Amino acid sequence: MMPTAKDLQNWIGSDLAFRIDGKSIFCQLCGKPINSEKKFLVDQHKRTKKHKEKVLEARRKDGQTSSKMVKQLSIPGVFSKQQECRDEEKAFKEALCKALLKANIPLNKVDNEEFKSFLSKYTGRKIPCESSLRKTYVASTYEKNFK
Ligand SMILES: [Zn+2]
Repeated sequence: MMPTAKDLQNWIGSDLAFRIDGKSIFCQLCGKPINSEKKFLVDQHKRTKKHKEKVLEARRKDGQTSSKMVKQLSIPGVFSKQQECRDEEKAFKEALCKALLKANIPLNKVDNEEFKSFLSKYTGRKIPCESSLRKTYVASTYEKNFK
């Protein structure tokens, strides 16, 4: 018997590495759907070397960003204003990424013209494309909300 969407949701719990994609589970860290006919297959995926590497990579990336930010904070004067804007923009993108992940909204929806123009009109910000969200924010967002 195929698992229901509710089963799938139970299996992945609050693990932001995964989202439900129709009738199966999609691993956002590995960027691919995983075999989700049985719970043990999902657990098996979590134990694969590849997946574990992605989790580690996510942790590493997060560590790098934090230490970089600390360094940049110590640069005085003219840079601080620019840095403020960049931090704010980064916070916005992270928040966007988190909202999408938590709501199980596929990241590529930000490339949808209608959705993108809605977001950018009412937030007054430039909306990042899916690949830049995936490259820069999924790992750290995942890491921050996974711990
Ligand atoms: Zn994975």
